[in-house]
Amino acid sequence: MSEDWFETDKCLIAGKWIDPVGGEILALENPSTGEEFASIARGQAADIDAAVMAAQASLDGVWGRKTALERGRILTDMSRAVLRHVDQLAELEAADVGKPLKQARADAVALARYLEFYGGACDKVHGQTIPYLDGYTVYTLREPHGVTGHIVPWNYPMQIIGRSVGAALAMGNACVLKPAEEACLTALAFGAIALEAGLPAGALNIVPGLGAEAGAALSAHTGVQHISFTGSVATGELVQQAAGRNVIPVTLELGGKSPQVVFDDADLDAALPFLVNAGIQNAGQTCSASSRILVQRGIYDKLATMMAKRYRALRVGPASDDLDVGPLISARQKAIVEGFAKAADPSRILAQAEIVENAPKGGHYFAPTLYGGIRPDESLAQDEVFGPVQVLIPFEDEAEAIKIANGTAYGLVASVWTRDGARQMRMAKALRAGQVFINNYGAGGGVELPFGGVGKSGHGREKGFEALYGFSVLKTVAAHHG
Ligand code: NAD
Repeated sequence: MSEDWFETDKCLIAGKWIDPVGGEILALENPSTGEEFASIARGQAADIDAAVMAAQASLDGVWGRKTALERGRILTDMSRAVLRHVDQLAELEAADVGKPLKQARADAVALARYLEFYGGACDKVHGQTIPYLDGYTVYTLREPHGVTGHIVPWNYPMQIIGRSVGAALAMGNACVLKPAEEACLTALAFGAIALEAGLPAGALNIVPGLGAEAGAALSAHTGVQHISFTGSVATGELVQQAAGRNVIPVTLELGGKSPQVVFDDADLDAALPFLVNAGIQNAGQTCSASSRILVQRGIYDKLATMMAKRYRALRVGPASDDLDVGPLISARQKAIVEGFAKAADPSRILAQAEIVENAPKGGHYFAPTLYGGIRPDESLAQDEVFGPVQVLIPFEDEAEAIKIANGTAYGLVASVWTRDGARQMRMAKALRAGQVFINNYGAGGGVELPFGGVGKSGHGREKGFEALYGFSVLKTVAAHHG
């Protein structure tokens, strides 16, 4: 298939759209209908090899000679080009991932914002001078790693490409991007946009394909000097092992079981939209989804009633209808989420959303479900569902809230809802997570805010200025001049 502005079933290598060496393609399914609607290349090790060589050639050539200012201007032009294509990108993402159009559009705008942020930051990463021995001048340089690998999942392709490829290019790296086999059209479209905006050939190469083939080849490639991986814990372990054999750094952005802790002095009306949206956005298929709502006993019944009412008002349907919630990405993902639902006690369901009647029968719809009175050690309170399922867990006091909030293997995001300033500070310190929000949850999208996990949520930080340190290497220069 060929859109009129990019090739869907080819790889982008050295600025050219190229058939995969194996000549095979993979079908893409529209999750809203269950029908095949496009095909992509089945890239394999040989294609990854060609992409890594193209990236290295661009570092040795035009891209590697660009100054920070020039890179910044190119990224800024890429940001503007993304905005010119925002409607096309939103439509592609809605069809590919099943997101309601509004959410897909927000992702495209976020991609542009990442490029704007990192374009502006390129020439603001400075080294230091370090006082040292008599007769010496010592300073530090921030240099690119070289070729960086980017393995991206299907749930937020544009945002994750923006934050990782954007920051890597800003620091002068050349990228090889392996998008997810379930959804990768906006990744390819982004490749076309980057070329249109003047990114030199080879600075960004894109090889679609299966994780076990193209993904594994990229993470094991000896020509790659840094890997950024976003996806599941199980795959993250494999990627880290492969990178470990080449002794290269890895950023792992994995899953979560992120809590929101609501104390009895909280402004519940202000909290309500954040509590629910953080669980149902992108049909709960969000690494930073808030799947656990910890509620102090004094307000438990009131908040449960408020949340249940909101759940019953949610409407689920095809992405093109632009309702509150779209389908899950695949039949496989639906089976996983249904598995959690079957194992849970149905009498604890407080409310479910409505799937609209005209939702196509072949689509992978799952009605968002709110459970109440869940024990902290139950599977629904411990395991990542990656679907629109939230649980309410009651607690007595601050100490118990901290114990429950920190009582999973994950630590990605947390929030605390309280009017008590001292408690806000105590909780922010005590919560084990890469990001803590006070009286909000992820407000504003957070392009500027360093993001990443502890524990099984991963390590390393992307987003914000901090990412620029991760995508560069510090060199110390000690000059003896007497
Ligand atoms: P996944 O790990 O199966 O796939 C993610 C990417 O890794 C895809 O591009 C896939 O092709 C690739 N891959 C698969 N096997 C590979 C291998 N052996 N070697 C190298 N690459 C391989 O994850 P998924 O099921 O597609 O995504 C869902 C998971 O991702 C959830 O657990 C979710 O929490 C997590 N996630 C985390 C974040 C974050 O920022 N922390 C963001 C999105 C998703």
